Amino acid sequence: MSVEEGLLVVFTGNGKGKTTAALGMAMRAAGHGMPVLVLQFIKGAWSYGELSSFENMSDITLKQLGTGFTWKKESLDEDRKLAAKGWAEAVSEMERGHFKIIILDELNVVLSYGLIPLDPVLDALRARPPGLHVVVTGRGAPEELIAMADLVTEMKQVKHPYQDRGLKAQKGIEF
Ligand code: ATP
Ligand code: MG
Repeated sequence: MSVEEGLLVVFTGNGKGKTTAALGMAMRAAGHGMPVLVLQFIKGAWSYGELSSFENMSDITLKQLGTGFTWKKESLDEDRKLAAKGWAEAVSEMERGHFKIIILDELNVVLSYGLIPLDPVLDALRARPPGLHVVVTGRGAPEELIAMADLVTEMKQVKHPYQDRGLKAQKGIEF
């Protein structure tokens, strides 16, 4: 098959593996020399291993756009501002057309908390250049996004060491 079609991919659900699946795709694409952009919404406070890994990979650009979700009513305004700024960057990168894959990590969370409105997001995704793959991750993907997507995987939690044993996050597995 030689036709190149940009897919809209969604990784959602309550089980672990959404972000790491997207990062795996980034690794795979970089192996073909495809430029990949990873925009991480909400995240910013933790030092994830992928930050250093991708620093050494010229085809993958990773940017954190948040400060860690505060979950506090009084700072939602700040979360909203950061989310809107991040989304503006996503739109301009989609229009610029340099990257072959754009990963919008945790955008589902941004949308399900109403930090930015859904309709302009759907419109911009619909209007993206035809060859551009976009991957959206995070719990609680909106129904409309799922309906629009070409590939949707819902991670289902079967066991999780935190939920089952209260085990804290392990280096290399969760961060
Ligand atoms: P990962 O980044 O490891 O691929 P994820 O993107 O699927 O996980 P998120 O919803 O982004 O998961 O959750 C962020 C953090 O919460 C991760 O450190 C993840 O390991 C952890 N986590 C995911 N699922 C669960 C769960 N069911 N119970 C407790 N913690 C979880
Ligand atoms: Mg995630």
